[in-house]
Amino acid sequence: MDDLYVLNPTFASLVYSSSLWVNAYSVILSETLLFLSISKYISVALVRVFQLKRQTAMGTQIPPSTSGEPIRCKAAVCREAGAPLVMEEVMVAPPRAHEARIRIVCTSLCQSDINLWKRKDFPGITPRILGHEAIGIVESVGAEVTEFSEGDTVIPVFLSDCGECSGCRSKKSNLCSKFPFKVSPWMPRDDTSRFTDLDGNTIYHFLSVSSFSEYTVVDVAHLTKIDPDGIQMSSACLLSCGVSTGVGAAWRTADVEEGSTVAIFGLGSVGLAVAEGARIRGAARIIGVDMKPEKFEIGKKFGITEFVNPADCGDKPLSQVINEMTEGGADYCFECVGLPSLMEEAYACCQKGWGKTVVLGVARPMSEMKLQCFDVLRSGKILTGSLFGGLKPKSDIPMLLKHSIDKDLQLDKFVTHELDFKEINTAFDLLIEGKSLRCVMWMDSSK
Ligand SMILES: [Zn+2]
Ligand SMILES: [Zn+2]
Repeated sequence: MDDLYVLNPTFASLVYSSSLWVNAYSVILSETLLFLSISKYISVALVRVFQLKRQTAMGTQIPPSTSGEPIRCKAAVCREAGAPLVMEEVMVAPPRAHEARIRIVCTSLCQSDINLWKRKDFPGITPRILGHEAIGIVESVGAEVTEFSEGDTVIPVFLSDCGECSGCRSKKSNLCSKFPFKVSPWMPRDDTSRFTDLDGNTIYHFLSVSSFSEYTVVDVAHLTKIDPDGIQMSSACLLSCGVSTGVGAAWRTADVEEGSTVAIFGLGSVGLAVAEGARIRGAARIIGVDMKPEKFEIGKKFGITEFVNPADCGDKPLSQVINEMTEGGADYCFECVGLPSLMEEAYACCQKGWGKTVVLGVARPMSEMKLQCFDVLRSGKILTGSLFGGLKPKSDIPMLLKHSIDKDLQLDKFVTHELDFKEINTAFDLLIEGKSLRCVMWMDSSK
């Protein structure tokens, strides 16, 4: 070999350097293998430490998966129309195809819960789990569900968004024709319930949500996945119904412009959410109409600039007072109470030629409003209803959340009370007495 080096130094140096490389490779290879085996032991140890930490944090040990099994949990059941809700244990069946079972984090109370809770006749029914404004975490999903998985943060909505029907595909509508809006006591696809009491008797659903329960089952067409980063659960929960309805009506249904004049009839949460939406759009005048004088002070925080109490109008119809204030009518009128006579007044004080009246209030079934045909013909006004503010839940709730994170949409102003879920009857009293806008109830009182 030495001769070879002497005789052919280039070849010799090549052989020498090759053997060096072979040695180097074998060292690297053996060290890599050593590193990999150590890494494996480290990662196994880390997983175990994490598991132990989680077990310690939970007090005992990791609970077994509840997927596919019925869950026994607490729910506030409406056993009798108008009577206090009964906090009891119920069984929540696993989700079927196209459904998800949700662990509710917090829920709030909306006027529609009160209206249906009071009703003895259809669509009122007992025993029922009310509640339709909430936020939760997916616990498990049924067959055919690809859009959601365990651990997703979701907002359930009474209005479906199947994404496939002509209504869902149209930019002009948010009304799903596959699962049309109805106050059904069942799950939407198979008209059955996922709730039973401990005696095995059926408990009915409400608005496809039934959030007054620690766990509920919701069809995926009624669920919107959200990114939980940077959100406040108690605020995001409000996008499930009332605030979305009001803000959406101002932004999507009416499309309020900068400098316009808006009149809002009824300053509950939905009416104030309309004001908030109109304020953000830069409306010049936002006239609030309500029988309670204290609503004006509250309304100012949401952008109300002027206040009319119908009790102070004397002999003049409300519409005449607003027509005089606005020199011919408001550009946009929103009825947020559900009274046919108030809808007629709103239409009457809406600007001729381009004014738009948006009905958001839920009137009693079969009630009618009267319009003079000649007035409709010559006025050129638009009258429209707006369910969920004309918003498509799956795309528009994330849009509203973005506005909330950017602080232009101020959701926390609506949260006047926070209670433990077990105090739900107090939340009912607060809303009935007009003392709360939104009362958020936490399922886990430590939150
Ligand atoms: Zn649809
Ligand atoms: Zn509602």
